[in-house]
Amino acid sequence: MSFQVFGIAVSRGVAIGRAVLVASSRVDVAHYFVAPDQIQAEIARLLRGRDAVVQELETLKDELPDDAPHELAALLDVHLMLLHDEALTGSASQWIVDRHYNAEWALSAQLEVLARQFDEMEDDYLRERKADLEQVVERVLGALAQAQGDAPAPVTPRDFAGEDPLLLVAADIAPADMIQFKRSVFRGFITDIGGKTSHTAIVARSMDIPAVVGTREASRLIMQDDWVIIDGDAGTVIVNPSPIVLEEYRFRQRQSELERARLARLRHTPAVTLDGEHVELHANIEMPVDAEAAVVAGATGVGLFRTEFLFMNRDGELPSEEEQFLAYKAAVEAMKGMPVTIRTVDVGADKPLDRLTVNELRHEHVLNPAMGLRAIRWSLAEPSMFRQQLRAIYRASAFGKVRLLVPMVAHLSEVRQITETIRKVQQQLTDAGHAFTRVELGVMIEIPAAAVMLPLLLRHVDFVSIGTNDLIQYTLAIDRADEAVAHLYDPWHPAVLQLISQSIAQARAAGKGVSVCGEMAGDPDFTELLLAMGLRSFSMHPSQIPAVKQRLLRSDAQRLAGVLPRLLESEDPRAVAEKELAVAKGGVAAVH
Ligand code: PEP
Ligand code: MG
Repeated sequence: MSFQVFGIAVSRGVAIGRAVLVASSRVDVAHYFVAPDQIQAEIARLLRGRDAVVQELETLKDELPDDAPHELAALLDVHLMLLHDEALTGSASQWIVDRHYNAEWALSAQLEVLARQFDEMEDDYLRERKADLEQVVERVLGALAQAQGDAPAPVTPRDFAGEDPLLLVAADIAPADMIQFKRSVFRGFITDIGGKTSHTAIVARSMDIPAVVGTREASRLIMQDDWVIIDGDAGTVIVNPSPIVLEEYRFRQRQSELERARLARLRHTPAVTLDGEHVELHANIEMPVDAEAAVVAGATGVGLFRTEFLFMNRDGELPSEEEQFLAYKAAVEAMKGMPVTIRTVDVGADKPLDRLTVNELRHEHVLNPAMGLRAIRWSLAEPSMFRQQLRAIYRASAFGKVRLLVPMVAHLSEVRQITETIRKVQQQLTDAGHAFTRVELGVMIEIPAAAVMLPLLLRHVDFVSIGTNDLIQYTLAIDRADEAVAHLYDPWHPAVLQLISQSIAQARAAGKGVSVCGEMAGDPDFTELLLAMGLRSFSMHPSQIPAVKQRLLRSDAQRLAGVLPRLLESEDPRAVAEKELAVAKGGVAAVH
């Protein structure tokens, strides 16, 4: 049966493929393909994992003391029965044969299928056996992890010409897991949770693959292996489409590929408006390797290197100074003399260090993480970690043009502590004989307090970068990761526009650099607006650069600036923008 699920469009384009359902807690299970000649060996590996657990449970059962409760032996029997059931390992083996999944993936895919069947059972006792099944699968996954040397070499999907593309469906994906998917087999994402600027959405955008978040129940309604279309522009998911709908979307997919190829030709065109205003188009990156995509897209620098992704997935261990230095140096060298703005670590809120999903974080750990010990607050609370990161950044400055950016600043005392720490770090590096050059210091304008007192902050820094994702969140008191209030997350809100416009004007008047690196900068629907406000430096995901460049090449900055006063005074700025700035009516950037 064909049906649609509606969510929030976060990453454009159309993806058509098979659904792969993954429980949020198992998103980190290895997902890769095995070569055709490895299939039998992979099934044998799965069965060895299963047999190891059978052995373990048999031993446990044999060693049960005589006075052990009778239920314990019965429970072990249930687990043993599940392990021997063909519906688990037999069907998991079939995933390996049909889809070439690795054993762990095959097992968790089959678990999702069976879990649904348990959920639908009328009988309470039987329904509750789902928990037993999950425990059994966890044990087998554990056994497979222990025998890791056994695992086959992964092969990339490209080696399987003709394979159906795979689309990931999960209740939630932690940013720490998302980053691993950069190298994954998935060609699109659907999640139940999340907002347009949640970090899961941001990483999906950086991967330039279609994604829809905040669907609330896609992971419950979509079945393993269903055919799915993700319409990343409209925020809809079509499940088991009819042949006509499928053909229509295949056509749109081809059109959008052609459009991308056309835009890519703008790569070497200088970013200059019709009236001759030069505009910097910089890239946002999460990992040093992303710098390559930035250069390919025609970025003239990195405006935001989100270093927190280097700190994730490490089981509590932080990256050493040397490791960080090498990562920053790699990005700096890849940019070949163009500036690289390295932001100090911004963990907390919806970017925890370990792989908690937003929901787990919200409900189990911190009362209100967005307002807690996040970003610079965390760095200042961990001075040796902060100094270590600053040393690594300064050392990278010997290899190219490095700029230092600090997130979430709200107090002048924070800026004083930062400059004091920088002085110490410079002294330490000089004493240790490390080379470094001058590094400009910038702060992010993400908290309304920082925007309101910008003239005071500007006395202490070389540049500012406006983080609209957080500025909107904190100005409107809307959690950016919460789909329940996503409709109120409004970049066109007059208060937001006032703060952005005023910050740009004040920084320019003070002769200081100002850029926008939040998602607004990469959304072509805001290009004219930001140009009208006097912005001349935009930073965005590399994939967005061509579309934004096309908009600014067609813009007359002076004419746009003339519209700004009317727009800022209006009760409906979006309507003014549609009429006078040629912003698309009801485009994807519209209020959700
Ligand atoms: C922002 O808040 O706009 C920003 C760029 O930072 P992040 O999205 O990483 O919080
Ligand atoms: Mg931010």
